[in-house]
Amino acid sequence: MAKEYNVAIMGATGAVGEVMLSILEERKFPVKGITLLASERSIGKEKVYKGKKLKVELLTRDSFKGVDIVLASAGASISKEFVKDILAANALIIDNSSAFRMDKEVPLVVPEINPEDCRLHKGIIANPNCTTIIAIVPMKPIHDAAKIKRMVVSSYQAASGAGAKGMAELEQQARDWAANKPLKVEKFAYQLLWNVIPHKDVFMENGYTKEEMKVVNETRKIMHAPEMQIASTCIRVPVLRAHSESIMIETEKKLSVDEVKKLLSKAPGVTLEDDPANKKYPMPLFASGKDNVFVGRIREDISCPGNGLNLWVSGDQIRKGAALNAVQIAEIVLKENLK
Ligand code: NAP
Repeated sequence: MAKEYNVAIMGATGAVGEVMLSILEERKFPVKGITLLASERSIGKEKVYKGKKLKVELLTRDSFKGVDIVLASAGASISKEFVKDILAANALIIDNSSAFRMDKEVPLVVPEINPEDCRLHKGIIANPNCTTIIAIVPMKPIHDAAKIKRMVVSSYQAASGAGAKGMAELEQQARDWAANKPLKVEKFAYQLLWNVIPHKDVFMENGYTKEEMKVVNETRKIMHAPEMQIASTCIRVPVLRAHSESIMIETEKKLSVDEVKKLLSKAPGVTLEDDPANKKYPMPLFASGKDNVFVGRIREDISCPGNGLNLWVSGDQIRKGAALNAVQIAEIVLKENLK
């Protein structure tokens, strides 16, 4: 019989944790047992896995005994607090937070791009930021064919990127607006309904936000391209789920629009949706709940003729931007016997 593994989901009641549980089931991950961990707010809550009810338990230092793989999704401070206990229990942690992403000892992996980096792990593998993953899955085949020299990413990020509470806040604002009630603002800096907010994460000294610099630094690390020139502007929009991004790239070698379409039509994890005359282009409404990153509106950048291209992508950042990417990493670990 094939080997099975004990898996713990840390942050099992969150936007990402919930989807992780369903993805483990969908992809028939070889699970022996599942431990669902969250805060005291969630003790006793129930989730369903393969038709069976599982109770959520309190995350403690003793939660990891006998666990093989921890899918961590309870935020960076919790990952930092519990990583020693996870490693002491000889479990592998695949971490969704920003806690270890830029640590030189920790591989940062997108399975379609750098699966081989999993082999370098010392107990921790980091899952990249969701905006970064959605942007770069379609960039990899272009980079391999023509070397991307420069990339400018402008994001249109869904409320669910701020977790279950972010999604709930936008839904509540819509209900309150329809009922002519005052709108509550807690999770975002301003009312998100009928608005866009150019402020995701904290502002840094260089005027960029931390989220924007994650796109820059993580892309370079994952693509093994420290010299790539990257800038990013990250915007929150009143979309419930799935991030979209406008991406401008400048390549070393010239590629025609048709060549790019051909490359992307067979790229893993990518769906080419590019027929504007028939109103076919990626949109977050339709990317929600899907595994692939959708790419379209591919055209020459007329401000950079010859070597410039503009593209538009949409992808479900809870699935490919977090939960699915983490489970794919776990699959590589098992396939290559890295645990
Ligand atoms: P979320 O919906 O707010 O869920 C947070 C989870 O962490 C909940 O299960 C929560 O449990 C648990 N938690 C919080 N404090 C805890 C504590 N002190 N002890 C134990 N458990 C605790 O957040 P999310 O969106 O799922 O994000 C989770 C992580 O994934 C974050 O690091 C985030 O940056 C990252 N991420 C999120 C996305 C996204 O699109 N949402 C994408 C990529 C990466 P309770 O329910 O008991 O509070």
